[in-house]
Amino acid sequence: MENMVSVISVANQKGGVGKTTTTINLAASIAERGYQVLIVDIDPQGNATSGLGIEKSAIDQDIYSVLINDVPLKDTIFHTSTNRLDLVPATINLSGAETELISMMARETRLKSALDSISDNYDFIFIDCPPSLGQLSINAFTASDSILIPVQSEYYAMEGLSQLLNTIRLVQKHFNKDLGVEGVLLTMLDARTNLGAEVVKEVRSYFSDKVYKTIIPRITKLAEAPSYGQAITEYAPNSRGAEVYDDLAKEVLKNHGKKLKK
Ligand code: ADP
Ligand code: MG
Repeated sequence: MENMVSVISVANQKGGVGKTTTTINLAASIAERGYQVLIVDIDPQGNATSGLGIEKSAIDQDIYSVLINDVPLKDTIFHTSTNRLDLVPATINLSGAETELISMMARETRLKSALDSISDNYDFIFIDCPPSLGQLSINAFTASDSILIPVQSEYYAMEGLSQLLNTIRLVQKHFNKDLGVEGVLLTMLDARTNLGAEVVKEVRSYFSDKVYKTIIPRITKLAEAPSYGQAITEYAPNSRGAEVYDDLAKEVLKNHGKKLKK
């Protein structure tokens, strides 16, 4: 039978738009609903890694070891404190990979090959991308079924999105013809300003039904949770932040024809 895992890159080459926050909390919400989920951190900043409570000192092999030194991906997997949620960590080592990959054989497909070896164990794999469109993001897109694009609800929200869409097209053309857009997520909406509403309108008119109904507001607890090494589902399970990411999880599961297990 065909492999049923869905591999989703969370990408936008702008920094600070909510990629890592979305990766952690969407993945944790889907895991809470009974699915096996893996996060692959491919940002040298390692924010998804630290945000899920994995200490640097505990990591001897990370995604760099997989991409550059052919370490089996299964040997780098950590279980997190959330049931059914695993993580492949990134450390600052990974910052060298952008240039090291350039001279390697089959450089664009290295992450894909590594993920193929474990994909039977998961329902969803989320790749937390770096804020750039270099070799690491190309590896992520080549390994993915689709891209989830977080867009911050502020001026210039759409800036840079045409470059991102161009990169997606290039990867479709050369490495992964089935790559699609999973969805566009409006993040960090400040309900007190009119500006937010304007941006929501603009993004909806450009991406129409690709935009999730769920909009993530600016919520302090979402910003606090990573410093406790926890997803919002664990840090504040009954909070508004947990509720909105569960709403997003329900949309994503529905789009994939998956049951809501609770
Ligand atoms: P990226 O991965 O795109 O760089 P992050 O997810 O790290 O973005 O978010 C950037 C900053 O904004 C972080 O400090 C994060 O805690 C904060 N943040 C993200 N989403 C929210 C939100 N919905 N409400 C409040 N703070 C948020
Ligand atoms: Mg990030």
